[in-house]
Amino acid sequence: MLPFSKWFLATLGGLMGCLVVTDLCLSAGRKSSTMVTVRVIGPDGTMTGPREVPKLVLPDAEWQTRLTPQQYRITRGKDTERAFCGGLLDNKEAGLYLCVCCNLPLFESTAKFESGTGWPSFFQPVARENIRELADRSHGMVRVEILCSRCDAHLGHVFEDGPPPSGRRYCLNSEALRFAPQDQLKTIGERTAKSKPADVSPASRSDRRSEIVLGGGCFWCVEAVFEQLDGVLDAVSGYAGGSPQTANYEAVCTGKTGHAEAVKIVYNPERLSLEQLLKVHFATHDPTTLNRQGADVGPQYRSVIFFASQEQKEIAQAFLEDLKDAKVFRRPLVTTLEPLNGFYPAEHKHQDFVACNPQQGYVKSVALPKVEKVRSKFRDLLKKDQPGSSTTQSP
Ligand SMILES: [Zn+2]
Repeated sequence: MLPFSKWFLATLGGLMGCLVVTDLCLSAGRKSSTMVTVRVIGPDGTMTGPREVPKLVLPDAEWQTRLTPQQYRITRGKDTERAFCGGLLDNKEAGLYLCVCCNLPLFESTAKFESGTGWPSFFQPVARENIRELADRSHGMVRVEILCSRCDAHLGHVFEDGPPPSGRRYCLNSEALRFAPQDQLKTIGERTAKSKPADVSPASRSDRRSEIVLGGGCFWCVEAVFEQLDGVLDAVSGYAGGSPQTANYEAVCTGKTGHAEAVKIVYNPERLSLEQLLKVHFATHDPTTLNRQGADVGPQYRSVIFFASQEQKEIAQAFLEDLKDAKVFRRPLVTTLEPLNGFYPAEHKHQDFVACNPQQGYVKSVALPKVEKVRSKFRDLLKKDQPGSSTTQSP
């Protein structure tokens, strides 16, 4: 078999010169021996002086398991999150902002400022060595991309319109960052210059991940419902049940592609079970109306559980049997159990739609009532910062 790397080299080698070498290392999954000089957080929780550490180079598949789909899309795929949607935009706590991929310290809270752009903005990095700048000529303009020096994660861009003293505006994606409050810096300190960055990366902890794809009407609503649950790492709106060629909003809206609007829920099975997720799902959509949720009519709005394994299929089957036996619904269930043959994330504008468009008519009348229902009915399952969570101290 011709290894992918050799094919890649043969195809692109002449065109891209040394860039290929970097890409080859990534795609072949070999660790590059390249060292890089950066400042890390020492065992005492403070920044060290410049020191040489190995670059963190991982195969793409490994990044996919380490990161949530959104983190992966942005840091490894150079995407940009929607303005005013990032979780760290309004964070005013004291601490450090680290690379979400490798925990390298990037920005300090004291350099954060309100730019009005909708993205977390800083006027200088915590250490110049830790950020790499690269000319970016995509989208018909010339910008300066910023990357993590240790793992080459795409972070955002830097512009020359920032406040004093630097006059620069480092424009970041929240999804590319992890925030470490001041009092926790000791716990993430790196012991020696030779310490492997992978040892402190998020993925090396015992975080387990499972995924389930569910459909129950408009994916905006389904996504918003699950985003609130503690243990849900990510909820992605998309399409399942049809072919990749027609997995786009316009085609799926015709009702003729076989797809359902669906949401892929990435969760930690140690904190949330599939049964609990199904319980929430069946409390927030009507599984008795065939190809219909309220005013949304068509097979793309069907009630469906897409199973990716025999185990998921059996759990879902047992759950549906229990619902029938307990006569939870007056009318017969029409939910289908379908094998997952591919999940296709929806267009960017459909992600986090409810969170980004709380004033939109449909969101106000259909989606937010479902969100409220979860908040009141499943208080114990909510993320701690959600309004209504049993641990939130709200008046
Ligand atoms: Zn990094």
